[in-house]
Amino acid sequence: MTGERRWEGPSDLHLHSLRSDGTEPPAAVMQAAHRYALRTAALTDHDTTSGWAEAADAATSLGMTFLPGMELSAKQEWRSVHMLAFLFDPDDAALRAEMDRIRGDRMGRAERIVNKIARDYDLTWDDVVEQTHGDATVGRPHIADALVARGLARDRAAAFAGILNPRQGYYVPHYAPDPLTAVRLIVGAGGVPIIAHPTPSGRDRMMPPDVLHRLIDAGLAGFELDHRENTEGGKKILRALVQERDLIVTGSSDYHGLGKPNLPGENTTADEMVQRIIDLGTGTSPVYP
Ligand code: AMP
Ligand code: FE
Ligand code: FE
Ligand code: ZN
Repeated sequence: MTGERRWEGPSDLHLHSLRSDGTEPPAAVMQAAHRYALRTAALTDHDTTSGWAEAADAATSLGMTFLPGMELSAKQEWRSVHMLAFLFDPDDAALRAEMDRIRGDRMGRAERIVNKIARDYDLTWDDVVEQTHGDATVGRPHIADALVARGLARDRAAAFAGILNPRQGYYVPHYAPDPLTAVRLIVGAGGVPIIAHPTPSGRDRMMPPDVLHRLIDAGLAGFELDHRENTEGGKKILRALVQERDLIVTGSSDYHGLGKPNLPGENTTADEMVQRIIDLGTGTSPVYP
């Protein structure tokens, strides 16, 4: 028996704060979501849940519903795969251990990237630390911000197109579990796994169908189809898979504050799909106003 529905759309289920590579505190991210007329929002920082409490307070005080989330780093062969996870238990030991491992390795990896860049440019690890708030999950965006502060790039996009482009030779990968492990950990923690921007162009392009079917068999719940980085051709293929396997489809902005042009609500998730996520997730509850 379901009770009275306690949330409303429009819903944006993919937003970042400075607890990872967004540029605003979690409360400011929820305020931005509110300004863009959203009624339900998730915080999905990379590999951390540290922003949940602050975001939940801010969202509910604005009359919005907060959906606890995360974007877990994974890797399939050479592809970087971003696994959105909703409503999982943030204290699940197995998932926490994996998050800690990824975050720890990201730190050493960022330092190795900076050491390589420092051979050719005037950049120090301290510059990057200065761009990183507290125990935020460190990523290339923080190195980009340090390059901008040093006058070596105009903005993050220019840094990624320039010095941070893997072709420049400074790239170092970080540890990440394979997507099947990621799905199993999220499901094991009562969460709902959904692949973020599943069909981008370039080297991270869509995983092969047999891999996707195995992920779905393990509990992958759906795909973030409405996202500015997805290709039209890839979306068409995944829409057919969604029909075949009765999956969830989400749409979201992937807001990073000033770190990307993406704006809250530029894509949204249908109410019916938000309800399916809420019905599936058992590790924690949405936070209602
Ligand atoms: P990392 O996980 O450290 O390899 O860095 C990847 C992150 O960089 C992603 O989560 C994106 O948010 C960000 N990113 C990738 N490309 C760009 C870009 N062109 N402009 C701004 N941010 C980017
Ligand atoms: Fe990011
Ligand atoms: Fe992502
Ligand atoms: Zn993201």
